[in-house]
Amino acid sequence: MMQTQTKVPTFDKAAFQASVEQHLLVTYAQTPATATSRHWYLAMSRALADISTGNLIETEQQLSDQSCRSVNYLSLEFLIGRLTGNNLISLGLYEQVSGAMAALGQNLTDLLEEERDPALGNGGLGRLAACFMDSLAAQEFPAVGYGLHYEYGLFRQSFDHGRQMEAPDAWRGQEGYPWEVLRPELNQKVGLYGHVEVYTDDAGAERRRWVPGMQVDGNAWDLPIIGYQNNSVYPLRLWECRAPAPFDLALFNDGDYIAAQQAAIQAGSVTKVLYPNDNHEQGKTLRLMQQYFHCACSVADILRRHLAAGHAIEDLAKLETIQLNDTHPTIAIPELMRILLDEHFMSWDDAWSVCNSVFAYTNHTLLPEALETWSESLIANLLPRHLEIIFEINHRFMDLVEAKWPGNDEVKRKLSVIQEGNQRMVRMANLCVIGGYAVNGVAALHSELVKRDLFPEFDALYPGKLQNVTNGVTPRRWLKFCNPALSALIDEKIGTDWPAKLEQLSSLADFADDAEFQHAFMAVKKANKQRLADWVADNMGITLNTDAIFDVQIKRLHEYKRQHLNLVHILSLYHRLLNDPKFDMQPRVFIFAAKAAPGYALAKDIIFAINKVADKVNNDSRLAGKLKVVFIPDYRVSLAEIIIPAADVSEQISTAGKEASGTGNMKLALNGALTVGTMDGANVEIREEVGDDNIFIFGLLVDEVMELVQTGYQPTRYYESDSLLKASLDLLLGDTFTPGEPDALAGIRHNLLEGGDPYLVLADFADYVTAQERIDHAYRDKAGWARKAILNTALVGKFSSDRSIRDYVENIWQLKAVKR
Ligand SMILES: *Cc1c(COP(=O)(O)O)cnc(C)c1O
Repeated sequence: MMQTQTKVPTFDKAAFQASVEQHLLVTYAQTPATATSRHWYLAMSRALADISTGNLIETEQQLSDQSCRSVNYLSLEFLIGRLTGNNLISLGLYEQVSGAMAALGQNLTDLLEEERDPALGNGGLGRLAACFMDSLAAQEFPAVGYGLHYEYGLFRQSFDHGRQMEAPDAWRGQEGYPWEVLRPELNQKVGLYGHVEVYTDDAGAERRRWVPGMQVDGNAWDLPIIGYQNNSVYPLRLWECRAPAPFDLALFNDGDYIAAQQAAIQAGSVTKVLYPNDNHEQGKTLRLMQQYFHCACSVADILRRHLAAGHAIEDLAKLETIQLNDTHPTIAIPELMRILLDEHFMSWDDAWSVCNSVFAYTNHTLLPEALETWSESLIANLLPRHLEIIFEINHRFMDLVEAKWPGNDEVKRKLSVIQEGNQRMVRMANLCVIGGYAVNGVAALHSELVKRDLFPEFDALYPGKLQNVTNGVTPRRWLKFCNPALSALIDEKIGTDWPAKLEQLSSLADFADDAEFQHAFMAVKKANKQRLADWVADNMGITLNTDAIFDVQIKRLHEYKRQHLNLVHILSLYHRLLNDPKFDMQPRVFIFAAKAAPGYALAKDIIFAINKVADKVNNDSRLAGKLKVVFIPDYRVSLAEIIIPAADVSEQISTAGKEASGTGNMKLALNGALTVGTMDGANVEIREEVGDDNIFIFGLLVDEVMELVQTGYQPTRYYESDSLLKASLDLLLGDTFTPGEPDALAGIRHNLLEGGDPYLVLADFADYVTAQERIDHAYRDKAGWARKAILNTALVGKFSSDRSIRDYVENIWQLKAVKR
């Protein structure tokens, strides 16, 4: 097979071993005799980070010297997962380092298990940011990722008698994270509170400036994003908020020392903890502080780079673009306006035209509870100058609306950045659409709904601004690294270029009917199922049959994702196995993993219910091992890496119109799992790629969902007329699954019946059962199933995040690759 030239550093084994031992001694005060596995992992990672830090600094210098245009990816979340294993692959050093460590008496696989995931994100949105950074570096599109250095990542989840428990996640450990490097020369100062001062400048013009009431420090930590075998390394720059040093307390002109100390304590808590909500905003002051702190540090750093390279401020948009990952960093828009107006003394029009050609915004959701609004009074208090600027932006925008729709107050009310009411609110999404040059949805269907339902007037006002970029996942982590056995099999068949050119997988389709390849492919699947079964046996004490269908639903716990639809289906299988002598099924293992937001009671009740049903079902000998349910605790990237390669079936069963894209669906299909899914998000495009025969689609379409809701959805009608549904839901009453605690699970049934079933679980139940029966039937045909699984892997090359990034580059960012 022809291989393209890849750049990997030459590896000096002895020098590397010496570096590891040096770190062991100097950084961790250990000798080979005293060191634990954890020390070895730390020292090895530090030795590797030494290599990548050198490349990071050199790449930075090259991009600055050559005045390269870059993208700045602003995100409150980067769910990067463990770095050491993946970085070894990017560096092209996996085998060599494995050998070098073996010679030191250490097993690389064991060492990699010592790393705790940096869980600096909730779910898909944060993981997308991580995949995008990987793809930017792999293709050498100049980029800086900007995020927050949370002291505590997403909580650690455990179960106590089936109920979710949350514990803080100090991801850096006591020794600090070996991949991060502090960059004190990049530190920033950030103001908060205070007031706006009006003054007359030397030319006699009236000007305004913000006089903050307090100041905090922003410390810059860089993590290396290592390009796949190309020697380019870009920074993921994470800001940590620190209380100002004591002498800065003099800033407080009222001399209130105690108040100053209180403020310092508050500052110290700004980047303490990641907010654990997914697709839900709460409007807490500390969250707005986090958002502003993130934006202020990042915008200041972007301007620092731009000016240090000798460019004029007016040329900012020529060299820099800023992508806002959802509305969480929206405040960057008024922040840049403030700096251009108040510190660079640009005219409004000039400043606005810079802003308008710098920012682009990605919309991730249509769910009303996830669309951010901030109370005007909160912003007035924390960021008084920014509020003035927001008002001015809106004032000028309202003139535009008036010109387009004269005298139409209704459309003004709808498009205004300010939502009227007894508490006036600032709508962040509107500010993003008005303040940026591009807006994108994250899958074709979602982007259409953004245009049709969420922002139709904006689409009319700014033709072409609203676009689509379908999400993707990095094939390095989500195939090459997590599924080494399948990767080796693919290498054998089509060569080793596919991790950087995922479209090449399509040539695997030629082997879909090849009995030998089918056998090899399914043998890999089986080995991956065994790997997961061993993990479950070791960690949970549950034995799984690897001949059973491994049916996987792993994602944040949310009503719209409908883990409870999956649960009701499991109850229906339980009911049929016990009550219908004619009923038979292929053995199936239902595997769940999901964290629920700590304040989301129903989501936590669903976890509890699944755990209770699992307890009963897994120990009921009448089922003859046909039905197993496992809820694996503490869902995170490293767990996804074990589960995904082992999946036969991928559950993507959101209510149509609610899941913007999904990326779990892509990872699972890439690893040869067959999707059972609704016509929602990227499922629609997965179906287009793999073909109707190789996916199990069910359920109401978006427009059918909308019509049913409009005409008055009555879930009880489905309950009354479908005896299987009735029997399944009624199992939630009584104490079948909660001995001695009757009706402990009745809350879910109540939500679906009396509660109105807001996500149409009952409306889709019957069709879901039918789709599951088709799966059961298809799995009996071993060759037929193998063919479908192979075609899934072969035909989802489109969903590489490399392709997503090329779409952004060509249609939005207009970047050029810069080779090292
Ligand atoms: C991919 C991924 C997600 C997103 O999953 P969806 O099914 O798209 O919601 C969430 N969490 C982790 C850890 C992931 O790896």
